[in-house]
Amino acid sequence: MKNCNSCGRCCETAGNGGLSASPEEIDYWETYRPDIARFVDGKRIWVDPETGEYFARCPFLQRSPDGKKTTCEIYEDRPEDCRHYPVDIEQMLLDNCEMLEPRDLKNLRHAQRKLDSIMIDSRPPAGSGD
Ligand code: SF4
Ligand code: SF4
Repeated sequence: MKNCNSCGRCCETAGNGGLSASPEEIDYWETYRPDIARFVDGKRIWVDPETGEYFARCPFLQRSPDGKKTTCEIYEDRPEDCRHYPVDIEQMLLDNCEMLEPRDLKNLRHAQRKLDSIMIDSRPPAGSGD
């Protein structure tokens, strides 16, 4: 399994209500990041304040001029949902995640263990309730 190369495929699938945020995250954005909170409607993210509809594509996703890399405009304050991605191999397959290598597909359990080890610092501790 490779490291994330910022291809952005996972973020491309995060529109149309594909993300969620906790009340604590929303409170934080309302207090410290009104530029993020403006795209929150109740519990719904990311919502166009003009139409009240979900954005089809995450509004914070930026693509490099050559189209090969992406960055997150709110990386430090992005939702936990984004921080924890990818959670499992199934999700990576759905998004065509470029971390996956052909050998990962031959042994999915091993690939999941490798993913868990890569993501160990990005996930909540076991038993934290998240
Ligand atoms: S908030 Fe950032 S990490 Fe999350 S989907 Fe949007 S661009 Fe990607
Ligand atoms: S799809 Fe995979 S490789 Fe591409 S940005 Fe997301 S986690 Fe990284």
